[in-house]
Amino acid sequence: MKILVINAGSSSLKYQLIDMENESVLAKGGCERIGIPGGKLTHKACGGSYVLEQEMPNHTDAISLVLKALTDGVGGQGAVISSMDEIDAVGHRVVASGEAFKKTTLVDDEVMKTMDVIAELAPLHNPAAILGVNACRAVMPGKKMALVFDTSFHATMPDYAYLYAIDYDDYKAYHVRRYGAHGTSHKYVSGEAARYLGKDIGELKMITCHLGNGSSISAVKGGKCIDTSMGFTPLAGVPMGTRSGDIDVAAIDYLCHKKGMTMDEGLNYLNKKCGVLGISGISSDFRDLEAAEAAGNDRARLALDMFAYGCKKYVGAYMAVLGGLDVLVFTAGIGENTPEIREKIVGGLEAFGIVLDSARNSMKNDGTIHEISAADSRVKVLVIPTNEELVIARETAALL
Ligand code: AMP
Repeated sequence: MKILVINAGSSSLKYQLIDMENESVLAKGGCERIGIPGGKLTHKACGGSYVLEQEMPNHTDAISLVLKALTDGVGGQGAVISSMDEIDAVGHRVVASGEAFKKTTLVDDEVMKTMDVIAELAPLHNPAAILGVNACRAVMPGKKMALVFDTSFHATMPDYAYLYAIDYDDYKAYHVRRYGAHGTSHKYVSGEAARYLGKDIGELKMITCHLGNGSSISAVKGGKCIDTSMGFTPLAGVPMGTRSGDIDVAAIDYLCHKKGMTMDEGLNYLNKKCGVLGISGISSDFRDLEAAEAAGNDRARLALDMFAYGCKKYVGAYMAVLGGLDVLVFTAGIGENTPEIREKIVGGLEAFGIVLDSARNSMKNDGTIHEISAADSRVKVLVIPTNEELVIARETAALL
């Protein structure tokens, strides 16, 4: 069975064609500048990387180019299937499900009507996913398609964890609550951690730290999420590349007033101009910040310290809600690649049974799982490369 995974953004789109027989990636790539002059498709397959520069006025054009690359290659190279009939189904990544969808869902007209209604819950992300689904339905009519939600893994949170302490009637009327994000990643790494340790996931208490440009931390008990740091939107939780993370909302009202910003402008500010970028004034990229800290820049040091401190607080809180901890997992760009940040987060938690082995922690990410805890650490600390596309493909295949 071959599954095409689509992750559509507003002007870009990423894809992978996965053969579920052995879960191998047959081809992957992306389209950039959809609807903007300078369209470009990058297609990686058969050991090569091929670029096609061509305008893509809309997502339907982009999907058509992707299918052409898969069936005919780019410049005749990198074809991996002979026709689109070989694609058994398409799995679409969707950021927000609201309360309308609790699990992976097959696409039909009714489902897409509901998707239109809940689009306002994630205005930065869901409308792009809808464009991607509609484009695929136009180019591949009749093909089975699944929506795989970033929020589904968090649907198991208990009510006292997902509710905000607002008027309950407003929660019921407007569905304002914690939904979380990065669910496919938290699900993947928690499953991989149990598999790597040879333990029954049902027995394990885990904290999974997905630390990338967007970062979220989840408490996972017996394989089920019981709490997560992102909230109604991905703005909540730890400080991130450009997002503030948790902040007193009254401070926003005050800032908007002082800076003459509307609420929309205030939210844009919190999403795009804050986080480690705002604190450092240098970059949202942790590689730049580590270089600046090493060169003596104190605001880069401060940004990194605030990030690690924010993560440490969630680790501590989630140890409390889990009633202990067996496994701590780091994943995503920062989680997989920055020993210094892992050290800052975990340092000082020895009293809670978490001890790093600094030699193991400084290992280079080679795309495999690494155990970085010391031999005498009660809690296993693992670095696990995430694979959100594989989860989307597995969920889509399972639904068929
Ligand atoms: P992601 O959103 O998962 O792609 O993660 C992006 C973040 O990971 C950026 O802040 C990068 O600086 C950081 N990152 C990615 N690769 C590395 C690396 N090799 N070394 C240090 N940081 C990295």
